Amino acid sequence: MTADAAIADTHCPYCALQCAMRLTPQRDGARVDAREFPTNRGGLCKKGWTAAELLTRGDRLTAPLRRNGDRFEEIGWGEALDEVAGTLRALRRTHGADAVGVFGGGGLTNEKAYQLGKFARVALGTSRIDYNGRFCMSSAAAAGNRAFGIDRGLPFPVADLDEAHTVLLLGSNVAATMPPFIRHLSRARERGGLIVVDPRRSETARLTDEGGGIHVQPAPGTDLVLILGLIHIVIAEGLADEGYIAQRTVGFDALRVSANAWWPERVQQMTGVPVPLLRSVARRLAENGGTYILTGRGVEQHVDGTDTATAAINLALLLGLPGTPGNGYGTLTGQGNGQGGREHGQKCDQLPGYRKITDPAARAHVARVWGVPADSLPGPGVPALELLDLLGDEVHALLVHGSNVVVSAPDADSVAQRLGRLQLLVVCDFFLSETAQLADVVLPVTQWAEEEGTMTSLEGRVLRRRRALAAPAGARSELWIMSELARRLDAPGTWSTDPAEVFDELALASEGGPADYSGLSHELLDTGLTAHWPFPRGSRGTPRLFEERFAHDDGRARLVVVHPRRERSEPSGAADLTLITGRLLEHYQSGAQTRRVPELLAARPELTAQLHPATAVRLGVSDGDPIELRNTRGAVRARAEVTAGIRHDTVFLPFHYPGDARANLLTEGVTDPISAMPEFKRTRVSVHAASDTPVVETAVSR
Ligand code: SF4
Repeated sequence: MTADAAIADTHCPYCALQCAMRLTPQRDGARVDAREFPTNRGGLCKKGWTAAELLTRGDRLTAPLRRNGDRFEEIGWGEALDEVAGTLRALRRTHGADAVGVFGGGGLTNEKAYQLGKFARVALGTSRIDYNGRFCMSSAAAAGNRAFGIDRGLPFPVADLDEAHTVLLLGSNVAATMPPFIRHLSRARERGGLIVVDPRRSETARLTDEGGGIHVQPAPGTDLVLILGLIHIVIAEGLADEGYIAQRTVGFDALRVSANAWWPERVQQMTGVPVPLLRSVARRLAENGGTYILTGRGVEQHVDGTDTATAAINLALLLGLPGTPGNGYGTLTGQGNGQGGREHGQKCDQLPGYRKITDPAARAHVARVWGVPADSLPGPGVPALELLDLLGDEVHALLVHGSNVVVSAPDADSVAQRLGRLQLLVVCDFFLSETAQLADVVLPVTQWAEEEGTMTSLEGRVLRRRRALAAPAGARSELWIMSELARRLDAPGTWSTDPAEVFDELALASEGGPADYSGLSHELLDTGLTAHWPFPRGSRGTPRLFEERFAHDDGRARLVVVHPRRERSEPSGAADLTLITGRLLEHYQSGAQTRRVPELLAARPELTAQLHPATAVRLGVSDGDPIELRNTRGAVRARAEVTAGIRHDTVFLPFHYPGDARANLLTEGVTDPISAMPEFKRTRVSVHAASDTPVVETAVSR
C-alpha cells in the first residue's frame, strides 16, 4: 500500500445499478468488499467482485502511443498533446470546425461527460459530438421526453419495487446483466406476478418458473404489436383507470380509436402469443396491489424502439401507474453512467442539465457559465451513426473517449474502414481496445478506482466515485487531457482538472434545466446525502417524479398514438433466421475490460450462438459444433449452443467479442427515425455448419 492509497467507499465501474463496494488497497491492487446499499443490498455480481483485477494488469497503458506504420511507439505527453493539437488546428483551418468529431461514452463520470461536451463546443467549436449511449438509451429517453416531458430512467427508487404485486419486464434480462437487481423482484415472484417478455428463455425468463409467473415469448421484432394488443384488451375489458386518464393525461380519445386495430386474434397471429395469455397478462397488470412496467434494450433497440417504449408508457398510463404511490413505469439504464452521461452535453443536440442546444435561453445560460458569447456555440450536430458515417468525408479527425466502436457499433466492419480514412484518430483508454488499435495516437487514462467524480445511477441518484489508489505513472485523467488541449488550442474559459470544481461548474450550468444538479456538490454528497435529481439549489432532491404533475407545461402526460413501421427492406433469401444480440453475465459491453479478467474469460472464452434444437437438426448442427452466421454485411464464426430456450426462427449472439467474433459484423446501420437508435435486435442471417472452420479464441494474455 502506498501513501497515495486509502480505503474508499465507492461503486462498481460497470453497469447502471452502481452496486456499492469498498475498496481496500493491498500491496498489489485492491480488495473488493460489497457494501450495503439500497440498490444492491450488499450483493455484487461476478463482474463487480473481479473489477479490481483490471487495476494492476500488465497490459495497462502507461505512456502515450503514436502510430508508426503497423506499430506504436511510446512518446512523451508534451509531444503527444502538441501533435494532436497541431493536427486539430490544421484540420480546422482547412476544413472548418466541424471537421473534428468527438465520440463519448456512457461510462464517463458526470464531470468528464460535462467537460467533453464543453470541450467540443468551446475548445473545438464543433457541433459533431455524440456518444455510445445512442446505442443504448436513446429510444427510451425519446419516449420518456415525449410522454412525460422528462427522461429519468426510473422515476422512483429501485427499492420501491420490493413491495410490487406485479412487475412486467419488457425485453430486459436483469438476471444476467445486473443480478443483484432481482432481489427487488422477490415479492412479485412470490405473488406470481413476474411477467417477462422475451423471445428467449433468458435467465430472467426462467425466474417465472417459480410461483406462477408468466414468460411471454413473442416473435422477434413484434414487441410493439404485443403491447398494442395489451392496450386493446385493457380498454375493451374496462380495465383502464378512467379517473387517472381524465385527470393526468391528454390524448386518450385518439389512442382508444387507434387501439381498435389491435384485436387479440390479430396480435396472436403476428406475435405468436396466444389470446388467452394476452388476456391473462392484461388482467394481471390491472389487479390492484402495486404494478410496475419496466422496459429494457430488448424492446428498445429497434427501428421502432421509441414507439415501442411509447406504447409501454401508454399502457402504464392507461393503468394509472406513473406517479401513483406503489406503482410505476421506468426503463432500466444499461451503462454505468448511462443516466448522467445523457444529461450533461455529450448528445449532439444537448447542453448541460438536459437542455436543448436549440433553445436560445439555454444557450445564453450555459454560455454565461462558460464565459463565451452564446452565438459562438455551434448548433445541433448529428447522432452517433451519422457521425460515424461522415468519417473520412466531412469529419477528418475523431477523439474517442470511453467507447470501443469497432466492436459495439452496428455494421462494425464499415465503421473500422471509415476510422481508417481519418487523418487523425485519437483514443483515450486504459487498455489497447480494438478501437485504440486503429488509432494514430492513444492517450492512457486513469481508471475508476484512481479518480474522484460522480455517477448517476439508473434511479437518477447521484453517487460519489472515490479514489482508492494512485494511477500508474504515465496515466492521466481525461480532465487533465482536455485542459491541456484547450490551452494548446487557445480556448476561452476555464478548464479545471479538479473533479469537485468541474462538478460545481456542471451544477451551475445545469441550474434551471430538467436535470438540475445545482443544489449538489462533492462536499454535500460526501455527507451521505441521498440525491435523486432534479436537485435544485435549496431543495432536498426528488426520489419520486410525477407524484403531482408530469413535466409538460400543463402537468399532464401525453398518450401518443403509435403504429408499427413496416418490415425493413433487406431481401431475406437464404437469411431465414432472425439474429438477436445481447449480453452475458460474465461480460460487459464490448468486453474490452471483462475479457481481461481471467476468471470471466475462462467462464465465457469464446463466442457461442444459441439455436433451437429443431433449427440445429435442420442445419445439421450439434451442440458445440463450429458454425458460421452470414448475411450481406459479413460473416461471424461461433460455436453452436443448442437450447430449447430460444425460438426456432431466432438465433442469439452476445456482442462482447472482438475480431471475427464480433456480432456487430452482421447488424445493420439502420436506425429509429426519432431516437437514432440502431436496430440490434432484428437482423436477418443464415447459419451454416462449418466443421472445418476454426472458432476464433478470444483470450487476451497478460
Ligand atoms: Fe452491480 Fe452491475 Fe457491477 Fe454487477 S456489473 S456488481 S450488477 S453494478
